[in-house]
Amino acid sequence: MTSVLGPDGAAAVSAYVDAHADDLIEKLSAWLRIPSVSSDAERTDDVRASADWLHAVLRETGFPVVETWETPGHPAIFASWPSNDPDAPTVLVYGHHDVQPTGDGTLWEAEPFEPTVVGDELKARGSADDKGQIMFHLTGLGALFDATGLTAPPVHLLMLVEGEEEMGSPNFRALLEEHRAELACDVVVVSDTGVYGRDVISTCTGMRGLVYAHVDVTGPTSELHSGLFGGAVPNPAAVLASLVAGLHDADGRVTLDGFYDRVVPIGDEERTLLAALPYDESVFLEQASSTATGGEAGYTTLERIGARPTAEVNGLWGGFIGDGQKTVVPTDAHAKISFRLVADQDPAEVEDAFRSYVEAAAPPGITAAVSFSGNVRPCLTPLGDPALGAVRAALAAGFGLGSADDVLITREGGSGPEADLADVLEAPVVFLGVGLPDDRIHAPNERVVIPMLLAGARAAAHLWPLLATALRPS
Ligand SMILES: [Zn+2]
Repeated sequence: MTSVLGPDGAAAVSAYVDAHADDLIEKLSAWLRIPSVSSDAERTDDVRASADWLHAVLRETGFPVVETWETPGHPAIFASWPSNDPDAPTVLVYGHHDVQPTGDGTLWEAEPFEPTVVGDELKARGSADDKGQIMFHLTGLGALFDATGLTAPPVHLLMLVEGEEEMGSPNFRALLEEHRAELACDVVVVSDTGVYGRDVISTCTGMRGLVYAHVDVTGPTSELHSGLFGGAVPNPAAVLASLVAGLHDADGRVTLDGFYDRVVPIGDEERTLLAALPYDESVFLEQASSTATGGEAGYTTLERIGARPTAEVNGLWGGFIGDGQKTVVPTDAHAKISFRLVADQDPAEVEDAFRSYVEAAAPPGITAAVSFSGNVRPCLTPLGDPALGAVRAALAAGFGLGSADDVLITREGGSGPEADLADVLEAPVVFLGVGLPDDRIHAPNERVVIPMLLAGARAAAHLWPLLATALRPS
C-alpha cells in the first residue's frame, strides 16, 4: 500500500504543511502556556482552561460537533466530523491535554510553560507529550482538504482528548463505557507515542498489561528471641524470600501455573522486524545504569521488553533493618510484586494464579495474604491488520520513505489507557506518534522536534484516505 493521494497530492500536502508550520507552532505555543498539570490540585482550573482552549480550536478547525465531557476529575474533549460518504469507516483519534508536573524548576533551562524555539526544537512541558501530537492532526486535516478539495474527512473522524492521562486515567474506562455509543469505531488511532529514532521511523503494535500485587506474610504475633525460638517456629521473612525466589525458574521463566498459556508467540515476521531495529546493547545498558542484561532465556532484549510477560519484585521488607544486630524472629514481611502482561493474557487469571501460588507458599503457622490494585489489559494489533498497514503507509508518506515496509514496528513495554480503548470499544488500536526517545517527556526541558511535528502533520493528512480505502467493506 502506498499513498492514495498520488505524487501531486503528496506535494500539495507538503506545501500546505510548510506554509502552515508557523501557524502550528504559534497555536501550539498558546496551548502550552496553559499549565494543565492534572495531578496538581492547584492546577485544576488550568486543566479546565486547557480543555476549553482545545474545544474552541476544534470548533475553529471546522469540527461540527465539539463537546466537553465531564468526569469526576478533569474534563475530556470529544469532537466529531462525519464524512460525506455514509459508508466510510469510523476512526477515533486518542490523545490527552494534561501534562506532567515540572519537577525541580531549577533544572529547566527556560520556563516550562513559556514555550521557546531553539534551533529546530520547541521546548515546553507538554510539547511532545501530548499537545504537539494532537495539534499536528489539525494541520494534517487542513492539508488534506487543501490537497484534495474535500470539505469533510474521507472517514468519520472522532477525537477524544482526555485530561487525566498523566495521573493514570482513573475515570477513563468509565467515560468510555458511558459514551460507548458515540465512540463506536472501526479503529482507534493513538497519538501519544513516538518513533524508534529520528532516522528509524516506526509504529507500535502493542502495549503490555499490568497486574500489581501486595503480599503480606505474617507469623508469630510478637517478635521472638532467635536463640529461644529460632529454628523451632517458621520465619515469615524466610517464607517471603522463598516465595519471591520461586517466582522464576533457572531459565528466567515465571513459574505461575498457566502463566504462558494465552501468550501470543512472536511470529517469524515480527522477530525479523524487531531485529531490524538498530539496537545497541551498550546504549541500552547505559540507559539502564546496569552492567548486564538478564531475563527469559531464548529472547532478545527488545523481545523481552515488549513481547514477553514478566514478573518483577518492586520491593520487599520485613524484620529488623536497623543498625547493629538484633537477634529476632520477625513477626511479618512484605513485598510488592508486579507482572507485565502481553496479549492474550487475562489479568484476572494471572491474579488467581498468583493468589494460589502465595497461599501454597505458606507453611503451618504462617499466613500469606495478597491483594491487588488496578490491573491493565495488554493490547496487540496483529501485523496483518489493514489499519496497521495504513498507518505504516501514512508514516512512510509523511517521512518521505519509499514504502510502508520501511516503517519498522515496535512493542511498548509499558501499560496505558490504550488497552481500555481496545477493550471497551472492541476496536484495534494503532499508533501514529512522532515523539523521539530523547524528547525528555516527564523530565526537565521537554521538547518536541519541529520537523517531526511537520512529518506527523503530513502523515495525518495521508492516513485518512488510506484508512478509508483499507477499511472499506468489500
Ligand atoms: Zn502522553
